[in-house]
Amino acid sequence: MLLFTHPACLAHDPGPGHPECPARLSAVLEALRGAFPQLPWRDAPEASRQQLARAHTDAAIARVLDGRVVDGHDRIDADTVMGPASREAALRAAGAGVAAVDAVMAGETKRAFCAVRPPGHHATGDTQMGFCLFNSAAVAALHALEAHGLTRVALVDFDVHHGNGSQAIVEHDERVLYLSSHQSPLYPNTGAADEHGVGNIVNAPLPPRAGGADFRAAWRERLLPALDAFRPQFIVVSAGFDAHHLDPLADLEAGAPDFAWLTAELCWRADRHAQGRLVSLLEGGYSLAALRESSVAHVGALLG
Ligand SMILES: [Zn+2]
Repeated sequence: MLLFTHPACLAHDPGPGHPECPARLSAVLEALRGAFPQLPWRDAPEASRQQLARAHTDAAIARVLDGRVVDGHDRIDADTVMGPASREAALRAAGAGVAAVDAVMAGETKRAFCAVRPPGHHATGDTQMGFCLFNSAAVAALHALEAHGLTRVALVDFDVHHGNGSQAIVEHDERVLYLSSHQSPLYPNTGAADEHGVGNIVNAPLPPRAGGADFRAAWRERLLPALDAFRPQFIVVSAGFDAHHLDPLADLEAGAPDFAWLTAELCWRADRHAQGRLVSLLEGGYSLAALRESSVAHVGALLG
């Protein structure tokens, strides 16, 4: 087990009062260091333009890397904001996933968790949105395919919001299976059950206040069977903890035990299909208490 993070991910600041705040990552780091003091941490490198270009257009990459953040903040949309440290944070967040994939493929570890921000799963190939600058999970999945010669990678997303960006990036690519449970209706209002891509998209929208039992049933009955049928060679996880009942931006009413249960289900499927290979990246989660509890439950389950 390896953990990846970088101080730049703490410095990214979308401005006062923004829910995607540096304290989120501080809470996760403190909780993980307290619960698992023996686990090794690595500094995330910056992703290269070539690695980003597997998921993003030149224009989308340039908007983050070459944009001028003058005197404070550059507002890309109503809630997606760059400050002076955001460029490096976005590069490190994406680079964490790439480095984690490389470490797993090199046989250094079977599993890795990337405690990074900004999150990524709303960023489409050409658009930054929903607090997301680069789609780090999609970049990691495509890196496993392109740099390591794999042919089947699963991108598993249990953030309470639909990963519209991840779906958009991979929906024409049958090498990637995208699975998502999410609250509906809720931002970004995509992810209907009848969106299938090229047969590689499975969405399980859940109503508000669905609760942990319905969350688990969606995975057990719809999403995990699709994962088994796909027989992934690698699993990338978009681990958002905003389906937690304490989260202020959603009301799915699940909890840390549900995240631990799903993580364990994913781990044994990784063992069965993918030589254990699984890399997880932090996405959303906006209650600090929920982030502490959930990240410890998630990493504990990754450890087995
Ligand atoms: Zn979310």
